[in-house]
Amino acid sequence: MNLKSLTQPEIAQLLKDMQQPSFRAKQLYTWLHKGVRSYDEMANIPKPLRQQLQEKYPICPPEVVRKQESKKDGTIKYLWKLSDGNCVETVLMRYHYGNTVCISTEVGCAMGCAFCASTLGGLVRRLEPFEMLDQVLFTQIDSGLPVSHIVLMGIGEPLDNFDNVMRFLELVNSADGMNISMRHISLSTCGLVPKIDQLAEKKLQLTLSVSLHAPNDAIRNTIMPVNKAYPSQELIDACRRYYDATKRRISFEYAMIDGVNDSKENAQELIRRLKGLPAHFNLIPLNHVEESPHKPSSRKAVEAFQKTLEAAGITATVRRTLGGDIDASCGQLRRKYTKES
Ligand code: SAH
Repeated sequence: MNLKSLTQPEIAQLLKDMQQPSFRAKQLYTWLHKGVRSYDEMANIPKPLRQQLQEKYPICPPEVVRKQESKKDGTIKYLWKLSDGNCVETVLMRYHYGNTVCISTEVGCAMGCAFCASTLGGLVRRLEPFEMLDQVLFTQIDSGLPVSHIVLMGIGEPLDNFDNVMRFLELVNSADGMNISMRHISLSTCGLVPKIDQLAEKKLQLTLSVSLHAPNDAIRNTIMPVNKAYPSQELIDACRRYYDATKRRISFEYAMIDGVNDSKENAQELIRRLKGLPAHFNLIPLNHVEESPHKPSSRKAVEAFQKTLEAAGITATVRRTLGGDIDASCGQLRRKYTKES
């Protein structure tokens, strides 16, 4: 067990069981969420307690095994080694509205999307809440750049690790922790319908991003196996329910793949199917993955697609590709490192 996966009330209970005064809970919680690497740094905690905690609950911060910084746009990519030797990636992107950290939620991924590097070796295990928090914390500490925004768009499927992700959100949002606003957090899913409904019940202020990537089942089935379990109509219906429950506009991700999903007809079909649902589109020119046959759409096709959506009143932005020179997308660095070693 890692103390950094516990909420402040849970830490208070644990300290109470150790016959400690209640004010220690806030002290301990605050230190842990500052990213101390050792209990010895906790100056206002008595030494015997520090030693007890060290023996029972070692801190185990992740180690940087690779760090790559883009010369073009300042994007930094970290490959971390976790305490069991597994590796995950985190990317820090510098946007005008603030520094955004893209974190992984699992080691590997079981979803099998045809264009994605994270899924090539399958799912190894799910991350613990503290392992997601540590990515934000130690990226901020190592880079010296304050983090204001988080996207759950790294390796893994967040809704496949539902309880740990919910706990991570509570921790990172807590006033005595990093205090990052829910409105500054985006959670991305490939479309696990029952979990979208479960998330809707929580009525969080975060942005739900849905990786749609296709206007219909015929296309989506060829690139996203999850579509066979939850076909696109069920997914769109779940998005409507999510909007009704939360009144939060859905953000759709759409990786533009040459000749697969990028025609004008494809855009028109999307418009028909999403009618009446407040939505925003993020058009992402595909990042080519070595093992995959898929290629990015031309700039012209992306722009035409965007125009068609916008003419129908759906806002669409073309995502700037950051970190193209440092394997900064989805599992590419971990993949390279695993292959090399
Ligand atoms: N499992 C979640 C979150 C992680 S992936 C999900 O599927 O949404 C984050 C986003 O990157 C998803 O939209 C995913 O489809 C997309 N993605 C994965 N590989 C990509 C690639 N090679 N090029 C462009 N987008 C990619």
